[in-house]
Amino acid sequence: MADTTFDVIIIGAGPGGYVAAIRAAQLGLKTAVVEREHLGGICLNWGCIPTKALLRTAEVYQLMQHAADFGLTAEGVGYDPAAVVKRSRAVAGRLNNGVSGLLKKNKVAVIWGEARLEKPGEVTVAKSSRPPVLPALPAPRGVLGEGTYRASHIILATGARPRVLPGIEPDGDRIWTYFEAMKPPAIPKSLLVIGSGAIGIEFASFYRSLGAEVTVVEILEQILPAEDDEIAAFARKRFEKQGIKIITGAKVASLSKTASGIKAEIKAAKGDPTTVEVERVISAVGVTGNVEGLGLEALGVAIDRGIIKTDGVGRTNVQGIYAIGDVAGPPMLAHKAEHEGVICVEAIKGLNVHPLDKLKIPGCTYCLPQIASVGLTEASAKAEGRTVKVGRFPFIGNGKAIALGEDQGLIKTIFDAKSGELLGAHMVGAEVTELIQGFVIAMNLETTEEELIHAVFPHPTLSEAMHESVLDAYGRVIHM
Ligand code: FAD
Repeated sequence: MADTTFDVIIIGAGPGGYVAAIRAAQLGLKTAVVEREHLGGICLNWGCIPTKALLRTAEVYQLMQHAADFGLTAEGVGYDPAAVVKRSRAVAGRLNNGVSGLLKKNKVAVIWGEARLEKPGEVTVAKSSRPPVLPALPAPRGVLGEGTYRASHIILATGARPRVLPGIEPDGDRIWTYFEAMKPPAIPKSLLVIGSGAIGIEFASFYRSLGAEVTVVEILEQILPAEDDEIAAFARKRFEKQGIKIITGAKVASLSKTASGIKAEIKAAKGDPTTVEVERVISAVGVTGNVEGLGLEALGVAIDRGIIKTDGVGRTNVQGIYAIGDVAGPPMLAHKAEHEGVICVEAIKGLNVHPLDKLKIPGCTYCLPQIASVGLTEASAKAEGRTVKVGRFPFIGNGKAIALGEDQGLIKTIFDAKSGELLGAHMVGAEVTELIQGFVIAMNLETTEEELIHAVFPHPTLSEAMHESVLDAYGRVIHM
């Protein structure tokens, strides 16, 4: 008979859940993970990974269209939407299999089905009542099935789903969420993206690169609202140059179907309402935690607006129940979910862990051009009452950027004027999502300008622009 008692049961096999499971097993805890739909969660199947595959297609397509700039000839450059989607799904599928292999290697039991907590320490698993995101994946081989399972520690890692606004209900046909936007049957001629956070902007960038007429509507005055205002303004100019129409300080008041598409009424804080007619709409107005149907209310688990409340290491207010990842609140990012998973199981094991410092979690948007940041923005540093020194360096002064044909970018660094501590770094331009980790490490080491100025950066690289930005903050910039 299959074993039904574990030290730790984790509900949800997204990046939070499966990473927590592997770390728990490494620590010698007998571990099971329950999943109802897809190993790897949203990240591997419908989020981080398949979008990056689509955006890579967009990037290569853009480059091919500018082949002549590099002395190359490329005629009849085009694309096949079905093949573009097929590649993205294949990349997701490969990683999905990889998670299965990693769990097996680490002797983590996988229980297939939908989990619910009946009482502390007990999880019942039943067939999922939820219609799967198509195409439904078969259960991996060797998994445990429906039944009652016990563990002294239960971690909720159930993730999030698209937020739905009244009047903008997705219909799976003309009004899309990220699920439909990820596997379009064809590239629409025109598209309205509602919301300019990372998800909205990545899809706007992908579809515009493949030729769609794209309009983005954002309720706030700034696109990419979490980013430093200067970086967001720089990015906006680049997007507008590419032909993306951006309307800020405005909301979509209503959507109505026309013979061939959708008519959107857009109301701005100032000025008259306007209408936009498009083939398809993507609603990218955020996500909300999967807290329903888990039996949490009966157990008294504290939930605030769709988010399970936790302390710095994932403990909820109910002993033996923990939460990590998207369901435990923002920033809703895969690397935050993974890190929370690790510190949660290390705390369960009794190790001395550092609670997660959310300020040091980088945020990346993989549009063209890319955007990346960590730490305080200039405005938030000033709002904290700090006196700051700010450095800026444009890619136009960087030899590698010019050689790559990517001379449009900006790196901004913010230091505490008194202590010299690096408070934040904000970037827009080619490959900045790869560069940001340099500043993440610097911030984790509580680095000051002194160490950064004395560090040697390889030449020629885009990273030299990071160095120059630091030098600029202290009046020592060389190449500008
Ligand atoms: P999820 O990945 O959502 O996994 C939760 C799992 O729990 C799911 O597999 C679900 O089926 C399962 N589950 C839920 N309830 C139950 C139940 N009752 N029983 C059994 N199983 C259950 N983040 C980044 O860091 N970088 C990016 O580039 C990025 N791009 C994104 C692009 C898009 C389009 C989207 C939508 C998201 C993106 N994200 C990105 C966010 C990222 O996907 C999430 O932050 C991450 O997946 C959260 O991980 P998680 O483990 O908390 O939850």
